[in-house]
Amino acid sequence: MHELAVLRDTMIEEQLKWRGIRDPAVLAAMREIPREEFVPPELATIAYADRPLPIGEEQTISQPYIVAYMTEALELTAGDRVLEIGTGSGYAAAVLSRIAGQVYTIERLAELARTARNRLERLGYRNIVVHLGDGTLGWPDHAPYEAIVVTAGAPDIPRPLLEQLAEGGRLVIPVGPHPSFQTLVRIRRLGTDEYRREELLDVRFVPLIGSAGWEFP
Ligand code: SAM
Repeated sequence: MHELAVLRDTMIEEQLKWRGIRDPAVLAAMREIPREEFVPPELATIAYADRPLPIGEEQTISQPYIVAYMTEALELTAGDRVLEIGTGSGYAAAVLSRIAGQVYTIERLAELARTARNRLERLGYRNIVVHLGDGTLGWPDHAPYEAIVVTAGAPDIPRPLLEQLAEGGRLVIPVGPHPSFQTLVRIRRLGTDEYRREELLDVRFVPLIGSAGWEFP
């Protein structure tokens, strides 16, 4: 077996299963996706390290465990329409696309959006659309979404994302008053004006910058 495939299997066993990731669809998706394709070439040999890695523009590809944890927390089923805020490398979008029906993903930095779009196309992911823009506003054109995931830390939960969630839908988002430390929160929309909030995990994400996020520093 190729050396990176061995590291991928080890990541599944030691970083994901051992820490409690159970959803077979999440484990299968992360066993299938070549994470080394989503990091800069010089970092390919450490693509399966147990940590985030730099992807340029002062941004990161999230730690594998965090991608798995957030994806599992979304409770996806095959037909779901998913909105991701923070495309970054496109890795999490690729994971989501193996489980859900359609993935819409928004990135605010033009160079990252362009690179991720090209990469996802080259690798053959056909059910992902990458959009350049401010994800704190969501993407009303394709709403409502059964699942929304935000992969950058927000000061508060952006109102447009709550509004674009389908009834029964789940929003998973890092939230907190500090730009670099957050609590991962899951919001479930129970009815038109009824939402239930759960706090899941302490996390560290780069800031969500936008009109319903942090101001550009
Ligand atoms: N999901 C990514 C991956 O799999 O590589 C990791 C995302 S990285 C931790 C967070 C990303 O959110 C960065 O690329 C950043 O530019 C982006 N971001 C921050 N604020 C945003 C906003 N308002 N709208 C869209 N993207 C945003």
